[in-house]
Amino acid sequence: MAKLLIKNGRVMDPETGHDQVADILIRDRYVVRVGQNLHAIAATLFDATGLVVAPGFIDMHVHLREPGFEHAETIETGSRAAAGGGFTSVCAMPNTQPVNDDATVTRYVLERAARSAVVNVFPIGAITKNSAGQELAAIGSMKNAGAVAISDDGKPVMNSRVMRRAMEFARVFDLPVIDHCEDLELSAGGDMHEGLESTRLGLKGSPGCAEDVMVARDLLLVEVTGARYHTAHVSTRRSLELIREAKARGLPVSCEVTPHHLALADADMIPYDSHYKMRPPLRSRQDVAALADGVAAGVVDAIATDHAPHPGSEKMQEFERCPHGVIGLETALAVALQVLVHSGRIPLMRLVELFTLGPARILGLASRGRLSAGMAADVTIFDPDVEWTYDVNRSLCKARNSPFDGRKFRGAPVATVVGGRIVWQR
Ligand SMILES: [Zn+2]
Ligand SMILES: [Zn+2]
Repeated sequence: MAKLLIKNGRVMDPETGHDQVADILIRDRYVVRVGQNLHAIAATLFDATGLVVAPGFIDMHVHLREPGFEHAETIETGSRAAAGGGFTSVCAMPNTQPVNDDATVTRYVLERAARSAVVNVFPIGAITKNSAGQELAAIGSMKNAGAVAISDDGKPVMNSRVMRRAMEFARVFDLPVIDHCEDLELSAGGDMHEGLESTRLGLKGSPGCAEDVMVARDLLLVEVTGARYHTAHVSTRRSLELIREAKARGLPVSCEVTPHHLALADADMIPYDSHYKMRPPLRSRQDVAALADGVAAGVVDAIATDHAPHPGSEKMQEFERCPHGVIGLETALAVALQVLVHSGRIPLMRLVELFTLGPARILGLASRGRLSAGMAADVTIFDPDVEWTYDVNRSLCKARNSPFDGRKFRGAPVATVVGGRIVWQR
């Protein structure tokens, strides 16, 4: 039996509030004990003195591009980048080729992951067939095959009747519905946030209300259906207010924010640099401030990267033509520490919760996101204070489309333990 003993780390478990220097003994795939002065015969030792030892980070919003777009990323390379960012689990969005809209594709993703991934991969199934927004996907059979949620991420479900039916089905199968909230008529192919900056740069703007309208619609449908519902990558102040109100009324609603929307506003863009182009777009300074407030106030449940790799050949076109999306697995912790913890907005335990227990609760992963005896042996070890500079050319993923290249950070992952095995070390 393989044993791992992590010694003298600052163990933080957001479920129990436990925060003290302790040892963790892992046997095979489970945590056996958390306590003082633990010893074990024939165990691999990891000295975590001066480091934080947290439950394994979960990124509930990642695009791994396999099957179909292996030139951009594969399950293997995406999982290596995840491990390098301190993530032990990722959720794979279904916008692959073919789209993950039935159990065959769900099983394919899981089989590829079992063979090539170094972290846990949880597939998210599509809401509609081919994510075309018309007919419901095979929701029940995808759940049976291992899907943990449904989403047409990237292609919002514009038809409200279809969304209502999807929520009714998802409720029966106890699956969360994750929506990319964007009214495509209002956003009308905008390339950045609609505002002074878009006018100044002469680029087509996508207004914040394109998101707000869809969040409002979804919340009204949650009221009717009772489905568990999650808003992906919230980017506006108004959306967050709507979600706060819905939560206050007791609706089963949750939401995530991305590190890039927390750190960057439209005015921070390097003009016409495609590494700042994503959906939803970087918003106004007021929106950025509102997101951090929402995190501090407990409205936001998770930080998720929306890691969206694109090869350089696609991103090196004029701004209007290049695809949306940025990579983010390897900078997520550092960006979040900078914006939220080192700035004094939230305590470190709350940050750990946003990366662990928050997403685990939304996805119903009962043995993850927590760090106590009996839990899965997924552990993220990080140094909240080490100074480093991000060099995107050393990224473990295939793509290089990051707005954070060359940025100085304080805080980084040191080791990633998945199922009791150290799969990455700084
Ligand atoms: Zn999206
Ligand atoms: Zn996405």
